[in-house]
Amino acid sequence: MSWIDPDFPKTATVSDLVGRVLGLNPGMMTGPGTNTYLVGRRDPILIDTGIGVPEYMPLLEGYLAERGWRSPSRVVLTHRHKDHLGGVKDIRARFPGLRVGKRLHRDEDLPEGIEDIRDGDVIEGDGVTLVAVSTPGHASDHLCYYLPEEKAVFTGDVVLSGSTSVIPAGDGDLLDYMRSLRRLQGLDVRRIYSAHGPVIEDGPGRIADYIAHRLDRERQILEGLGDGVETIPALVKRIYADVPEKLHAMAAQSVESHLKKLLREGRVQERPVPDAPSIWSWAARDAPPKAPHAPDGE
Ligand SMILES: [Zn+2]
Repeated sequence: MSWIDPDFPKTATVSDLVGRVLGLNPGMMTGPGTNTYLVGRRDPILIDTGIGVPEYMPLLEGYLAERGWRSPSRVVLTHRHKDHLGGVKDIRARFPGLRVGKRLHRDEDLPEGIEDIRDGDVIEGDGVTLVAVSTPGHASDHLCYYLPEEKAVFTGDVVLSGSTSVIPAGDGDLLDYMRSLRRLQGLDVRRIYSAHGPVIEDGPGRIADYIAHRLDRERQILEGLGDGVETIPALVKRIYADVPEKLHAMAAQSVESHLKKLLREGRVQERPVPDAPSIWSWAARDAPPKAPHAPDGE
C-alpha cells in the first residue's frame, strides 16, 4: 500500500467514540489526505478541518447525518498548517457560532476569533474528554489530544502512519520534537489516531520506532562528521546514497534539523563560510582525544 492510498476510506467509524472524515487533499506531504476526527457519543468534537476543499463539507455533513448528528459541538485544531485549519472558514459558514480553538503561539494571519487552548486544558465532550498535550517540534504551536476513555492519542502531524514526520526549517525544531515524542511515550497510550493514514494500533511501538529512527540518523551524522564529512550536501550524499536525488533537498532539511539540534545540545559546532555551505564538526567535548581540532578562536 502506497502512502497516497487512493482506496483509503473517505469516512470511517474507527471506534465507538471516534469517527473519521477524510480532508480529500491527497499528496506527497499528506498521504491519502488530512484526517479529521469526530469524537464523542453525540454532538462530537471535531479535531482539525482539512485544507478546505469544497468536497469536504458535503462529506462531513453526510457522515454527521449517517450518525444521526446535527453538528459538531466545537472544533479543536492540532496546529496551524493549512491542511489542518484551512477548512475552518467553510465549517463556520455552515455551522455559525461554532467555537474553534488551538494553541495560540507565534501565529501569523489566523482566522479571527480562535480561542486559546493551553497544555493540560481539558475539553469535555459527550462521554469523552480530550486533554491537550503541548507537543512542539513539527510546528511550534502543535497540540496532541489525549483521550483517556480509550487510552488513545490524536497525534496530528507528530506521529504519522506510513511516513516520518517532517521538521520544517524555520518553525520546526528537532530537539523540541524529540522531547514531544518522549512526552507522548510517558502517556498511557494504546492507539494512535494520526492526521494522515490509518489507525496505529500499537501506539507505543510506533513512538519507539520514531525515536529509534531519529537517533539512528543522528548517529550517522555524527559518524560522518567524525570521518571529516563536514557540510550538509556532503552528509546528504553519504547518508542518503540510495535515495533518489530529487529527494535530496528534503533530506538536506532533515540533516540540517539534526545539526541544529546537536548544536543546541552543544555537541557540534558550525563555522559559517561566505557563499558556501557551513563547515560542521564535533564540539570539543565529544571529539576523541587525538582528533585534530581547531577551536576557531573560542
Ligand atoms: Zn503539519
